[in-house]
Amino acid sequence: MIYADNAATTELCPEAYDAMKPYLLHEYGNASQSYSFAKSAKKALKSARETIATCIGASPEEIYFTSGGTESDNWVIKSALFADKKRNRIITSEIEHHAILNSCNSVNMLGIPVTVLPVDNKGYVLPSVLEKAIADDTYLVSIMFANNEIGTIEPIKELANITHTHGILFHTDAVQALGHIPINVHDLGIDFLSSSAHKFNGPKGIGFLYIRKGVNLHSYVDGGSQEKGHRAGTENIASIEGMAAALKKNVDHISRVTSNLRAIEHTLVSALKQSNLDFIRNGDEQHLPGNISLSFRGAEGEMLLHRLDLKGICISTGSACNSINTQVSHVIKAIHVPPEYAEGTIRITFGANNTQEDAMQIARELIRILHT
Ligand code: PLP
Repeated sequence: MIYADNAATTELCPEAYDAMKPYLLHEYGNASQSYSFAKSAKKALKSARETIATCIGASPEEIYFTSGGTESDNWVIKSALFADKKRNRIITSEIEHHAILNSCNSVNMLGIPVTVLPVDNKGYVLPSVLEKAIADDTYLVSIMFANNEIGTIEPIKELANITHTHGILFHTDAVQALGHIPINVHDLGIDFLSSSAHKFNGPKGIGFLYIRKGVNLHSYVDGGSQEKGHRAGTENIASIEGMAAALKKNVDHISRVTSNLRAIEHTLVSALKQSNLDFIRNGDEQHLPGNISLSFRGAEGEMLLHRLDLKGICISTGSACNSINTQVSHVIKAIHVPPEYAEGTIRITFGANNTQEDAMQIARELIRILHT
């Protein structure tokens, strides 16, 4: 099998697995208890928080564990319901993940005004467009760090800077970016950052929300006093440990993995170009390492996915979260891919475990399918 759908999820790394094992088997104490047996869980929670904070240039008390990217996104967007009624508008972009877009729809039904910004044909939210959209009633700007379908990396520092000039909070959904490109929340001026471990070789169902010190975000899950009373529920120590180990490993190896992924991408795209296939590569030069979104003229993405599947190759058509839906995705529509290409869109996302041979094999199969 060739797994080339790393934007959907990634393989758990051995370091994460090893870090999790003791907490799944023997160290099952509840971190909230005060007897000695719970000490190991408490210590693990503290050190995982420190490791994660170091990886993003934050302080440990700014990290709040959640069940993943979807929950972190919901938490930030739904906080608008508790904001000042005269200042509760959310500004976001049309290419966000549905965890953001559907959360915005929900709060909008409850009276929160939402402005959805367009992107250019490479998927960028232009700083000038954001500047014009900011109004007196804006509470929050939420723009993803990097897009899951086309890999475009947004100008986060500039967007956060404009947002702060107007005294507004800035959130970024960094689910696809964290662990794959360097991120320092303080240098970039980010107030909230959503993350998910299974996108950087950690376990599924665990993530975190970075909340800048001094910013008050209403609690999302009410209950006990975990996460300083902001996100209640007994902590999933094993997964938190696995997430910290995976993030540290990824961050330590970002530059080596990035150059490897750039070379693999180049192999695939050059082989397709040499075969004279008629296709567009979506996104821009500045994209997530390993992310290749291609639109083939006159083809059907769904057919390509199934034909490649028969050869043991896993790729995606649109966003993995809704791959049962064969319609052109909201991202491909937003960047105005011409209709004769749009339906033939596939997403290949290579990860740390892929090789040059994987790229050649995928290219060969695509050429065979599309030339017959
Ligand atoms: N945000 C983005 C950009 C994503 O790509 C995804 C998952 O595909 C999510 C949020 C949801 O993350 P999770 O699977 O951890 O809920």
